[in-house]
Amino acid sequence: MTIVHICGPCRDFRDPSMNRCFQLFPCLADPARRSSLSLKLALVTIHLVCVAVLFLFDGALIEKTKKEPWYTALYLLLLAATLILYFVTSISSPGYVLDAMTAVNKANAAYRNTSITSNQPASSKNGSFILTADESQMGRNDAGGNSTDWAKLVSDLYPPGTVVRNWTCSYCHVEQPPRSKHCHDCDKCILQFDHHCVWLGNCIGQNNHCQFWWYLCDETALCLWTAVLYISFLKTHIARSWWKDAIIILLLIMLLISLVFLVLLLLFHSYLILTNQTTYELVRRRRIFYLRGIPERVYPFSKGICRNLYNFCCARRSVCSLEALPSPLEIEEKSMPYTCKDVITCRCC
Ligand SMILES: [Zn+2]
Ligand SMILES: [Zn+2]
Repeated sequence: MTIVHICGPCRDFRDPSMNRCFQLFPCLADPARRSSLSLKLALVTIHLVCVAVLFLFDGALIEKTKKEPWYTALYLLLLAATLILYFVTSISSPGYVLDAMTAVNKANAAYRNTSITSNQPASSKNGSFILTADESQMGRNDAGGNSTDWAKLVSDLYPPGTVVRNWTCSYCHVEQPPRSKHCHDCDKCILQFDHHCVWLGNCIGQNNHCQFWWYLCDETALCLWTAVLYISFLKTHIARSWWKDAIIILLLIMLLISLVFLVLLLLFHSYLILTNQTTYELVRRRRIFYLRGIPERVYPFSKGICRNLYNFCCARRSVCSLEALPSPLEIEEKSMPYTCKDVITCRCC
């Protein structure tokens, strides 16, 4: 409420030069300014300040660096890796529905040109999409007489009888495959939408969720290591100014709060990965029309922990897979209670 109130008047500036000036300042309440360069610079500055004060205040650390340079080198390497991963994730593509649609329609058009008479399934040359060109296999939900290859492909991913308008984005007017959502900050439909990260100024989706998880890992490790260095600085009994201690204590409190938040976020995303869910699906489960009837403890897209982990770490970097909704029979199988036999045979894996 306060943030909106403070930032709100900035939008009303009539002078274009003033408006441009305000665009440079980050504001989490204003979607247009969330991804501004200043927000990224502010975060980088916080990282650098937290590390720099250690080298400015802590004489023991400087001595240790002289004796064991590898220790400081490793720490600085972690800082560099975290910042690089932050920027890489912030500019990475989360996987846009529009791009997938263009690729699918192009692949099918190319397939038709090269093998008109073939009834075999078509696949794009780069292996990104595996499509069924045989129209007799499509039409579980006929998206209309003039529907494109994409519309037919998407309709096949939903259970029979699903209404077309339920999966058409009212902003982009494209057919959304299951697990996609329109992001109002990016103004695009995102494949396997997880959330829009205001700190990164980017959406987290099918293509960059893995990068995001590694970024969280790096950030947590850096935060933890810096907190340990702060504590060891405070524990050394060397005469120093009180304000140095005060600055370090303030930064340590900030770090510990960030650490708790990061650890919880890392655990939460690890749980989502193991069960093949997204933040959006977990939080808005009752609002998503195709998840509404599914029991709470059933993860409809889960293929077992090992397979989920493999798909997350390896498969999705090269293959843009569109997941179909499971049939009622599969849902029923997934919702069956665990027996001793299931535990022995590792059904969940
Ligand atoms: Zn959209
Ligand atoms: Zn977004």
